[in-house]
Amino acid sequence: MARAWRVDVITTFPETFDGFLDVSLLGKARAAGIVEVQVHNLRTWADPPHRVTDDYAYGGGPGMVLKAEPIVAAVEDLRGPDSRVVLLTPQGQPLAQPTVSELAARRHVILICGRYEGVDERVRTLVVDEEISVGDYVLSGGEVAAMVVIDAAARLVPGVVGDAGSLVGESHAEGRLSHPQFTRPEEFRGLRAPAVLLSGHHARVERWRRAQALHRTKRRRPDLLERRALTDEERQAMDEFPASDS
Ligand code: SAM
Repeated sequence: MARAWRVDVITTFPETFDGFLDVSLLGKARAAGIVEVQVHNLRTWADPPHRVTDDYAYGGGPGMVLKAEPIVAAVEDLRGPDSRVVLLTPQGQPLAQPTVSELAARRHVILICGRYEGVDERVRTLVVDEEISVGDYVLSGGEVAAMVVIDAAARLVPGVVGDAGSLVGESHAEGRLSHPQFTRPEEFRGLRAPAVLLSGHHARVERWRRAQALHRTKRRRPDLLERRALTDEERQAMDEFPASDS
């Protein structure tokens, strides 16, 4: 079997991950040994007897700062030659699918979750390879951000999503959004599922989906299309099938 995708999480609130790691795709991937996630309590690396992990900020001001010593000690214990050490921070690079793919391709990722006012800057200087933000807003801690990274990357690890075809054409996989989805019933409150989807004509369904994905991207996220040129085939599909929801 291929080597598992390994993640170590360093946090002051390990219990936040209860449940999240055990359900659905991630739960199954862990049970199958395809993904290994270990959640570590930062206190393990803090000095006894009180195992304090935070302290007042130099210079004053409200709030506490996570201390450098236990975080650096944790990373030094956990990392190996193939590790990528990531600090979750609202000051990092905004997370997008290319970074998710890179992390999924790594053998081992260490995620450091901040709390309070954040982590001592020397952690970044000494042991962090990459800083990631999950969006331009501030969370109370890095745990939810770490879960975002784990969830998004794990589904790209081979074998995690049962039908790898599900990943093809997904939003952001190919620089565009995905197409609208319909399931039974055929008509709901006067709204009919598009006839082409019920036609059984596989090639037409695929062209319709591609066209709708592109119309939708053009309207909702034109910035994504600025980064890639439309192919002739894509233009033809968009002409053949106008936007279904305009
Ligand atoms: N004082 C920090 C600042 O203004 O940049 C914010 C600290 S925040 C309250 C506490 C922790 O939550 C951060 O250290 C980080 O680990 C995590 N966090 C908050 N927002 C985040 C985001 N958008 N992306 C990733 N992590 C975030």
